[in-house]
Amino acid sequence: MLEAVAPTLRLNIDTDALAGNWRTLDALSGAASAGAAVKANAYGLGLAKAVPALADAGCTSYFVAHWGEARELLNYVPPEQISVLHGPINSAEAQFAISSGVIPVINSLHQAGIWTTAGGGMCDIMVDTGINRLGLSMDEIQADRIIKLSVRTLMSHLASADEDSPLNAQQLAKFKTATNAIPAGQHSLANSAGIALGPDYTFDLTRPGLALYGGVPRAELAGAISQVAFLEAAILQIRTLKAGDTVGYNATFTAPSDMRVGVISLGYADGFLRCWAGRAAIMYEGKALPVLGKISMDMIVVDLTSVPNCREGDWLSVPYALPEAAKQSGLSQYELLTILGQRFSR
Ligand SMILES: *Cc1c(COP(=O)(O)O)cnc(C)c1O
Repeated sequence: MLEAVAPTLRLNIDTDALAGNWRTLDALSGAASAGAAVKANAYGLGLAKAVPALADAGCTSYFVAHWGEARELLNYVPPEQISVLHGPINSAEAQFAISSGVIPVINSLHQAGIWTTAGGGMCDIMVDTGINRLGLSMDEIQADRIIKLSVRTLMSHLASADEDSPLNAQQLAKFKTATNAIPAGQHSLANSAGIALGPDYTFDLTRPGLALYGGVPRAELAGAISQVAFLEAAILQIRTLKAGDTVGYNATFTAPSDMRVGVISLGYADGFLRCWAGRAAIMYEGKALPVLGKISMDMIVVDLTSVPNCREGDWLSVPYALPEAAKQSGLSQYELLTILGQRFSR
């Protein structure tokens, strides 16, 4: 058997920071408990690292989008702590929920029918209060099929919680109407940004995702949330350019004088997209090394002028504090996390 060799890319997860962010969001949720959105492999960070840390911190409600994600999550938490946001769209998915004990989120009359026909049982309900994505519309919640469900968590999702939008209060009012119409064990409205909107929005259970992983969707959370994901990449080769030499595809950088540059194992296939070109600087011992030329699939080239002691094989850190990185790159904080590729060791 061939031994695996360590990748030249590391995604270091600060599990203490993650647990601390959960505790902070749980406290900010007031009388409500915080759950955790762990869809998309815990926003790219990996269920294996993230979920045990969240569980140790005290989290007992987890949200994923896909049934396949629930299956993997079952390695870490009991089935009744898992809600599947996409809900069952066929009998196989409903059967998976029944066999595993994972809780489906019912989003439509169609899904309610599938769930009931499969045998049903405890479920969650998503009601649409204005995002017009998944969820029962307000005029469907009184339907016979819905009234007959046994509902653990009645939830809705805010469209603009990260902004001071009139939509927030409108959605809150509609959600209150829904809570009066559907008997449910508990109510849940707020994502990360929704928690920062205050106690009117937190109900019984909150569903933070982004802020757990170091994202700051609203100014109120700045200072309270710590960075969780730290990126490092190795120097594969160091070369010396002559004045006039160019770097990378389409020769978009020309060396103004002789200079020492490093070829780094990080590219757009790893999630370091081409929008970073001309905007990124990679760090070595506190020095910022500008990225030169275009981002390649597997590599970038950085200016090593300020770090003559830097050697091939050394590790550089990639600044990835999400609010700042989002401003620099033009990507959203969500995209910055979920885009991180499979070649990072996690
Ligand atoms: C993704 C998601 C969340 C988490 O949202 P964040 O903005 O990442 O905190 C909560 N609820 C639902 C329904 C979601 O899809």
